[in-house]
Amino acid sequence: MHKAEYKFSTKTVCCYFDADLSSLAQVADDKNIIILTDKNIFGHHGERLNAYPVIQFPAGEAHKNQVTVDHIMQELIKLGANKDSILIGVGGGVVTDITGYVASVYMRGISFGLVPTSILAMVDAAIGGKNGIDVGVYKNMVGTVSQPDFIFYDHSFLRSLPVKEWVNGFAEVIKHACIKDALLFSILERYSLHDYQTDKTLIAELIERNVEIKSTIVTADEFEKGDRKLLNFGHTIGHAIENLHHIPHGHAVSIGMVAACNLSEEMNGFHFEEAARVVKLLAKYHLPVDVETDHARVFDVLKMDKKRKGEGIYFILLKHIGKAETVYIPLSDLEKHFKEIL
Ligand code: NAD
Repeated sequence: MHKAEYKFSTKTVCCYFDADLSSLAQVADDKNIIILTDKNIFGHHGERLNAYPVIQFPAGEAHKNQVTVDHIMQELIKLGANKDSILIGVGGGVVTDITGYVASVYMRGISFGLVPTSILAMVDAAIGGKNGIDVGVYKNMVGTVSQPDFIFYDHSFLRSLPVKEWVNGFAEVIKHACIKDALLFSILERYSLHDYQTDKTLIAELIERNVEIKSTIVTADEFEKGDRKLLNFGHTIGHAIENLHHIPHGHAVSIGMVAACNLSEEMNGFHFEEAARVVKLLAKYHLPVDVETDHARVFDVLKMDKKRKGEGIYFILLKHIGKAETVYIPLSDLEKHFKEIL
């Protein structure tokens, strides 16, 4: 096990790599640990988790809500959880988001640690301190920003991760390469999803590099004034597609990244010429690169995006692979290009 530390204004978060759940007691006080996980992960890894008190809830985004939070609060009270307790979320992004939220409001805040088990949670959701729940159709409507004490990377959990969740997570990995790391992009071109699923060293290096990319961005810009916005690459059109087509998040982001690359090629002064290379990489990792859609409806959803300001929208475009920029694009310009980019 080795560690990296990332300093936020409120605390320093330790990331433990090549870790094994059986060593959890080395990083948290054994007798105060309470595990929070979903039923699916408990089904696969229950034996290992049962060394501690465990609270479970049904898996999936549909359960990332207040009903689940109420259930967890009741269970915490039953277990006698107090200010010394440390809540450990073992799971995908739904579990890590709920863990951070519950820990930051239970008794006005208790400690928590995260053991991400999906690629998406390892490289993205567990990092940065944003947490919360959905309210009906409104995603992440309620939550706090609160950092875990630690993030614990035990790659053995990935053995049970379904292929479709690997693919989903790789959309964010490719996003990181596009916006920040040309070398990572070419490494991804060299290997395949199968290589990462079967080679422990390769996946460990990939995850560590992605943790470094996201952690560096979020520690430098905790309050989303600058570079943190770059993490939205592919997500503006992606969210609109996700809303309308109800496809997995990674798929929607992939289509959104292709549209953003096409727009980067169309924009004056950008001289981006590598959209085809990005499309090829996404397809290589089994991600969709286009969708049959109703452009007018997508555009209507886009107009409601949080990143809209006045008559324009802040878009993340690529200067070249490994370098992204935020650009303000008038809605009228975007509409002109819309049919060609998506
Ligand atoms: P998820 O937690 O729903 O996991 C997807 C599925 O994979 C679930 O069925 C889960 O039980 C299963 N699973 C996870 N790990 C497994 C394993 N090792 N073995 C077998 N099954 C496993 O979803 P996700 O894709 O991990 O994360 C998506 C969530 O993350 C969304 O709610 C999103 O809003 C959130 N998110 C948060 C942030 C943030 O900054 N806080 C960033 C990105 C995404």
